[in-house]
Amino acid sequence: MQQFKQVLVEEILPKVRKPLRYLGNEYNTVKKDWKAVKLRSLFAFPDVYEVGMSHLGLQILYGLVNEQAEYLMERVFAPWPDMEEELRIRGLPLFSLESLRPLTDFDCIGFTLQYEMSYTNILNILDLGGIPLQAKERGNEKPIIMAGGPCVYNPEPLVDFIDFFVLGEGEEVLLEIFEVMAEHRILRQGKQDKKVLLKELACIQGVYVPAFYKAFYDKKRRFTGIKVKEQGVAPQVVKRVVKDLDHAYFPLKPIVPYLEVVHDRMMLEVLRGCTRGCRFCQAGFLYRPVRERSKDLLLQQAEKISEATGHNEISLTSLSTSDYTGVEALLRETLNLFAGKNIGVSLPSLRVDSFSVNLAKEVQRVRKTGLTFAPEAGTQRLRDVNFLL
Ligand code: SF4
Repeated sequence: MQQFKQVLVEEILPKVRKPLRYLGNEYNTVKKDWKAVKLRSLFAFPDVYEVGMSHLGLQILYGLVNEQAEYLMERVFAPWPDMEEELRIRGLPLFSLESLRPLTDFDCIGFTLQYEMSYTNILNILDLGGIPLQAKERGNEKPIIMAGGPCVYNPEPLVDFIDFFVLGEGEEVLLEIFEVMAEHRILRQGKQDKKVLLKELACIQGVYVPAFYKAFYDKKRRFTGIKVKEQGVAPQVVKRVVKDLDHAYFPLKPIVPYLEVVHDRMMLEVLRGCTRGCRFCQAGFLYRPVRERSKDLLLQQAEKISEATGHNEISLTSLSTSDYTGVEALLRETLNLFAGKNIGVSLPSLRVDSFSVNLAKEVQRVRKTGLTFAPEAGTQRLRDVNFLL
């Protein structure tokens, strides 16, 4: 490991753009003793650092897992082509940011599937990590590969490569999954039997193990249905949903990147889901039902995150923030909370029809930040069918 670190720092990093993408050690990063935990997991974001570090889901799951004494979670992102070239020239594997360990050292690797354009990066990350691409080629000694995120609702394009998918909201189910994995390792004294483990995982609501199902296609290769083929496995996989956002985990010490990332600010998740039901909107359907976080809790979280990060901007995040009940009061009290500290508030996803001049005036009270409007649909016909459900 020491030798790898020396090569990385002295030979590779001086040759690549933005070396901070690969250094780790950011403020609030967690580094754990590998011998003191029962399970070592890796969060793999199949895009570059600046995109991945703007993803709230990463911060939620990283914080949740690392707050458990018996588990650890590290991070890896898709390397830029210059870094990939340097690794391939030297025959070195891709590595995690926290411990600089190769991917094969981990018990499990979880990819987040945010958009289909990143699928080739998943295969590249596996390849750079020295992990066989196809699930059936990975034996008991290889890490288990899992995937979550919005694209798992159509998992079939990736079933050959992923051992299991998690449908729904990760913070609701991930610790149940890890408990089964850790127990399995202890029972088998560190040696896993992949099929036995997958069978146990398949019994958790929200887990889809493709090896236990058969998918059917018509002559034109169009998907027609799926049937379970393993005894004891549920015929239908039901997504996991956080019932009450006020009692859900939310990270109060998120990692603060040294490098400027796409969304370089604190994030407060004010609500999940969307009331509108636009028929063309994937997120509007996937994140149902609508759940709001209470204003008092949001203000407490804002104060703690501000103390732990030092950011000078806070974003009230959701699919449609202007639909939050009492959004003007929340905005006013958030600005009051940070009065005199030069911390601005941004509203990242607004419907034009529910936005008010008062909101715009409030947002500008400290300084000009961002208002992002979502036009919702490209044509009037689509806008007209929004509310037909
Ligand atoms: S308002 Fe926006 S987020 Fe909500 S359903 Fe419509 S398109 Fe989706």
